[in-house]
Amino acid sequence: MKHQIIIFSGAGMSAESGIKTFRDSNGLWENYDINEVATPEAWEANPDLVSKFYNQRRKQIIESTPNEAHYAIAEMQKLADVRVITQNIDDLHERAGSENVMHLHGNIRYAKSSGPNQEKEYYPIQGECLTKNDTCPEGFRLRPHVVWFGEAVPMMEKAVEMIMEATHFVVIGSSLQVYPAANLLGYCPTNAKKWIIDPKANDMENPYEFTLINQKAVEGINTLVKQLKL
Ligand code: NAD
Repeated sequence: MKHQIIIFSGAGMSAESGIKTFRDSNGLWENYDINEVATPEAWEANPDLVSKFYNQRRKQIIESTPNEAHYAIAEMQKLADVRVITQNIDDLHERAGSENVMHLHGNIRYAKSSGPNQEKEYYPIQGECLTKNDTCPEGFRLRPHVVWFGEAVPMMEKAVEMIMEATHFVVIGSSLQVYPAANLLGYCPTNAKKWIIDPKANDMENPYEFTLINQKAVEGINTLVKQLKL
């Protein structure tokens, strides 16, 4: 039977592509307080600031390129059934060639309605910017297709279903401090092989007894590939 590998990636996955994590800079993300740009309350109070923040992030992501770890994961598809569940809003996994990518927290290259029925349709954003004049067919202003702090995570159930079928589960570059996403580790079958790749892995709580690879994503994925023996 082919290995069923789940890659569960977080912000550290894209750090070597030049996109900053926020946990490494005291809760700031690119010098912004996340409460002022990544919550529904922030959108209510100042949608222009929130849009500006995500327009900047989108520009940076478009100008970034996947790193060797993104490519190595895409390469694994030749030998195993690989499914990526990412907390990242960037599209670097797809641009490296991964075909099966679930964005738990949305995808910054898309917009959605700020009215009711937000999950009904996602609209690809042409270029870098979403403006106040961009609206959905019902006339509501478009907001980034991103799950903000305090919002429900619509893909959770599907993610749980996927994880329950895993034979191998690999966490890469996540502090495992963002919930409910971090709860997903608990759904991994007990007989699956499990790893955490993170330069701070050795400092993490490890209740599910993952094998810890205390390295950055690019170096760590090479270590993993040797251990996987695909
Ligand atoms: P986090 O910022 O909470 O934690 C990042 C983790 O990455 C840390 O454990 C850190 O030790 C590790 N790390 C740092 N450099 C690394 C490297 N080179 N290789 C591997 N690991 C490295 O990130 P999180 O757990 O993903 O939670 C943050 C939330 O913020 C996510 O939900 C995500 O949506 C959002 N976010 C996304 C991006 C992005 O899309 N690229 C960037 C920042 C934040």
